[in-house]
Amino acid sequence: MNNKTNDDKTTLFRTQTFIVVATFCIVAIVFSVLFINSRYIQNLKKDHLEKTIDTISIIHSRSALHINEGLDWITANVGICANKLNKDANLFSEDNMKIVKTFSNDYDFTEIAIVDSNGNFQGASGLKTNVADKEFFINTFQTKQPITIYTKTELFNTKCIIFTFPLFNKNHLQVGILVAYISKDFFEKRFLYQPEISEGLDNTIEYSFILDYNTGEFIVKPSNFLSEENLHHFSTTIQKAIISNSPNKILFKENVKSRDLYAIYTKLKATNLCAVTFLSKSEEGKHNLIANRTITVIFVLLALILILFLATFSYIQISNIKKLQKFTMKDRITNGGNGDWFNIEAQKLINISTPNSRALIFLDIDKFKVINDKYGYEAGNKTLRYIYNCIVSSLESGEIAARVEADTFAILVKYYSENVLKERIDLLSLKINSFNIPQKERFLFYISCGIYIINKNDSNILSMRDKAFFALNNSSKITLRTAHIGFFSENEHNLLLKEKEIENKMEFALLDNQFIVYLQPKYNVQNDTIVGAEALVRWNDPKLGLILPNQFIPLFEKNGFIQTLDLYVFRQVCKIIRKWLDEGKQPVTISVNLSRVYLNNTDFLNDFEKVIDYYKVPAKYIELEITESIMQKNLNDVINIINRIHEKGFSCSLDDFGSGYSSLNMLKNIPIDVLKIDRKFFTDNEDNPERGNSIIGSIIDLAHKLNIKTVSEGVENNEQLEFLKKTNCDMVQCFLKSKPMPVEEFEKILFD
Ligand code: C2E
Ligand code: MG
Ligand code: MG
Repeated sequence: MNNKTNDDKTTLFRTQTFIVVATFCIVAIVFSVLFINSRYIQNLKKDHLEKTIDTISIIHSRSALHINEGLDWITANVGICANKLNKDANLFSEDNMKIVKTFSNDYDFTEIAIVDSNGNFQGASGLKTNVADKEFFINTFQTKQPITIYTKTELFNTKCIIFTFPLFNKNHLQVGILVAYISKDFFEKRFLYQPEISEGLDNTIEYSFILDYNTGEFIVKPSNFLSEENLHHFSTTIQKAIISNSPNKILFKENVKSRDLYAIYTKLKATNLCAVTFLSKSEEGKHNLIANRTITVIFVLLALILILFLATFSYIQISNIKKLQKFTMKDRITNGGNGDWFNIEAQKLINISTPNSRALIFLDIDKFKVINDKYGYEAGNKTLRYIYNCIVSSLESGEIAARVEADTFAILVKYYSENVLKERIDLLSLKINSFNIPQKERFLFYISCGIYIINKNDSNILSMRDKAFFALNNSSKITLRTAHIGFFSENEHNLLLKEKEIENKMEFALLDNQFIVYLQPKYNVQNDTIVGAEALVRWNDPKLGLILPNQFIPLFEKNGFIQTLDLYVFRQVCKIIRKWLDEGKQPVTISVNLSRVYLNNTDFLNDFEKVIDYYKVPAKYIELEITESIMQKNLNDVINIINRIHEKGFSCSLDDFGSGYSSLNMLKNIPIDVLKIDRKFFTDNEDNPERGNSIIGSIIDLAHKLNIKTVSEGVENNEQLEFLKKTNCDMVQCFLKSKPMPVEEFEKILFD
């Protein structure tokens, strides 16, 4: 692995780790914020406030009720006294004044007095005055209702609570009022709800007071606890609320000396008084919330610790995986990356490169096995390491290489042009062989390279590797000084795929009788009668239709399947002749093509013999065509084969004569029965027919002299046919006369 990519990996790894940790932190922060704002916390706060409101409301209702009861009680007693008075005679009669006096003594009023409709005032104490201009007098006359009012009175030079009660005569006419004065101290002592200081469970302190909201004066001031300033603040707030007709009850919340102070008020059954209750939440009272908050903070901290733990755990996991990956991505021989590493790294580089800017090379050491065999595995490993180092040291930045298997290396290089690449590989092969220079006995390494230039259609490294591998094994090679290189070709690749497809289905096709024998008639040139036929195979593929032999025979010759196919065709031909014989028809000779692959081993003839024996077909009805390309072989071998064919009773023809390898001279030495003159003579003959004809004429003449019959293949026109007649050619086999046809059709033209 080169250093550059290592650095890239480390940076990438750090970035990934950072992203993971950062993501965790962000998640943790978001989680905490969400939690703090969550309904749970909001509910805690709400609970706390609601509890406070409930507490203060209960205390307040209690104290307001108590004060109102006190006020009602006094009003009722004043009423009782008023009822006792005689209102139909002189209001200030002795009897009336006696009643008032007794009443005053019983109830300890500061003063109780009768006031007539003119405001003349006569008290139990004997005090006489006129109160016609006083608020309580005017109001009671106007409303005809009892009135309670807290006010300063000049009569006693003090503040009193005044209770009035209207006086009606028999005729329901208001004749005066009864007024009772109760001093503030007396009210405080007897009726006023004493300031209560209580400490609740959560250490809250509660105070209840009465406020004159007209003047903003507290009848009894809460001592010590609230400063003048705070009291003033509360009284003005309550005054404002009353003026603006706010609900009877109102809650205030202030923070005084770091304590939360709540206040609630209710207007009393007196013109200008209201009851006020304060509730102060002590520090301890807040503790619940603080405790709740502490729980929250602990919870969030725990969550953070958990997240941190998870992040650390993931970090360790990731580093372990990376370490493991590093280990599994290593090639133990070269100490570089292995095939998996190459795939990953190459894919990354390819993803960021433009089309046709990179080439993938598969480099293979020719005959590497020799090193292992001759010098042992350790030497072999050392050599692989050496070659790997040569490759890596020849790389530019951004290029990578790895041993992918055995003695094969994959290299991803920048691609500029074919020539530049050729030169680089040539230099690399020389570099690999540079160790030879000081040696006397040289051991030359030849390398083979399959090259695939990565184009824009590629996205997957594995398919690219396949292509480079294909180029290594299948493409035509260019030879350099100590290297052979082949570039991947789409056509060659497609051909291979097609061949593979054919190979996959050929065996089934044979069992499925998809191979069909066609017969092409051979005509006697002189009398135009059918004197023979050639068996030509066709592949009737269910999907592709009829496939001609040149599309599969060369492949079958390569993979050896041709032997099976030829035996099959031979059997079909035997069946046809057998049928004709059984039907009492006179068979014509049918020629069967023999592939050149047999010609190394004549044992196939034994199989043929078994087949004709099985069908009891006389061998004379069968002619075996050997192709002219056989002439590349040793002449004696060829003669030997032909003799063996004759031994089995078959006649033998030399097919495609003139298409390449044979010479006229050869004819005299090979004991064939029939010479099939290749169609090339007739197609290439057009420019100079005279010359062509004389060659054909000479061949036929020579063949006849050697007692060899002649068949002209692929005759193109009637002139040529006329010429062949003149030159005594024996037979023609051509489209001009008849194309290869199914057996039934052939039988029709032969026998009908
Ligand atoms: P071939 O043995 O030389 O067969 C003659 C080929 O020439 C046949 O092609 C035939 O259709 C074609 N032909 C005949 N007259 C004319 C003509 O006037 N004009 C043209 N253009 N062509 C003509 P086919 O059937 O396509 O066979 C091609 C080759 O495939 C054969 O050449 C033979 O070498 C091989 N082949 C066919 N069947 C078999 C078989 O069963 N076994 C083996 N080993 N080879 C076979
Ligand atoms: Mg033939
Ligand atoms: Mg031929």
